Amino acid sequence: MTVITRFAPSPTGSLHVGNVRTALHNWLWARKHGGRFLLRIDDTDLERSKEEYVEGIRADLAWLGLDIDGEERQSARFALYEGEFEKLKAAGRVYACYETPEELDIRRKVLLSRGLPPVYERKPEGAPVPEGVAPHWRFRLDHDAPIEWTDMVRGPQHFEPKTMSDPVVRRADGSWLYLLPSVIDDIAMGITHVVRGEDHVSNTAAQIQMFEALGAAPAAFAHEALLVGTEGKLSKRLGSLGMASLRDEGIEPIALVALLARLGTSDPVEPVTHVAPLIESIDFARFGRAPARFDEGELALLNQKILHHTDHAAVADRLPAAITEARWNAIRPNLMTVAEAADWAPVFDGPFAPPLAEETDRAVLAAAAGAVSGIDWANDPWHALTGAAKEATGAKGRALFLPLRRALTGRDHGPDMAELLPLIDKSEATARLLAR
Ligand code: GLU
Repeated sequence: MTVITRFAPSPTGSLHVGNVRTALHNWLWARKHGGRFLLRIDDTDLERSKEEYVEGIRADLAWLGLDIDGEERQSARFALYEGEFEKLKAAGRVYACYETPEELDIRRKVLLSRGLPPVYERKPEGAPVPEGVAPHWRFRLDHDAPIEWTDMVRGPQHFEPKTMSDPVVRRADGSWLYLLPSVIDDIAMGITHVVRGEDHVSNTAAQIQMFEALGAAPAAFAHEALLVGTEGKLSKRLGSLGMASLRDEGIEPIALVALLARLGTSDPVEPVTHVAPLIESIDFARFGRAPARFDEGELALLNQKILHHTDHAAVADRLPAAITEARWNAIRPNLMTVAEAADWAPVFDGPFAPPLAEETDRAVLAAAAGAVSGIDWANDPWHALTGAAKEATGAKGRALFLPLRRALTGRDHGPDMAELLPLIDKSEATARLLAR
């Protein structure tokens, strides 16, 4: 059996961190099993669906490295839905309904006020049909067939169809609600695993009967616990946190992928530079039932850790030419983002205006400047330089190192000077010491 998964966003907005997590888990599962990962654009709502969002979804998946093995669009498949709908109608599994939203609302309130569950009540056979009213359509649940499945995350699930409302599958204007086209597509595309958020669990109960009514075995289901913000519930921020803003903040796609792959699972979040170990480890049995907490601070930290062992080749196309491999290796332990690397280019090559040295530091700088011409730059110049300045002035520790670091880099902090100094041209370093 070839594993086939799908990510099925509605193109009515940009992807946010929560959608991306679902996409990622579907992708990881397909890749782990040598299967296929499909992008299904759920654009049955022609009014709210926008082409720019479709393009954005593709671009975001590409940025994240989630390559797709095919793309489908629900708006191109209406003829298929129509045909399956007719079959279900003929079999009595979908039926026409005429209630207005107001009527349904009143009925719901009456039931609730009597302490009864607000379940839709079917009209008796032969009930009068209002004239001139176009019906909407419901799927007739089989009340005699309890619904059961073993969810890959949640374990055994059981629903009593008698306690559920027959779901509306089609509106009076002929447009489709999400439930039925999704099942028709899952069958037609041979989807083996449906991975989505636990907000879909009750949909799944109804959809399992739709699979059966359409003569197909249901897919396997994994309903993952939802993602919440640091405040505990799905924050506004999280719901709108798109890939563009993360990219602008300097978050690497692999950092987001590494976090979302493991968040809420019993596997630790690790600063991986490649997706292979994440593919290897995905296992829905290791997903927790509690909401997974997404913390932007944790993401920034993970991003930083990943950069610390990211190879030059992986980022070279985003670095100024001045940041050679050796220079990248020297500065990466100090970077929060790749973009910050550019700030180090003048530290290596200038232009550079060393800060005015403090009076007390001048002796150290003068000693270093005097020693520099005799130092072999290819052979640990930092130790030679500090050794000479120490001998001449008696300064040591911070009083020795800080003025030199400041004069040579313009900064109080940074990479190990022993690594950095050989990467600064000797004449440039000499000029900086002399400019004190
Ligand atoms: N378009 C649906 C949604 O975004 C797809 C749900 C599913 O994966 O079946 O909620």
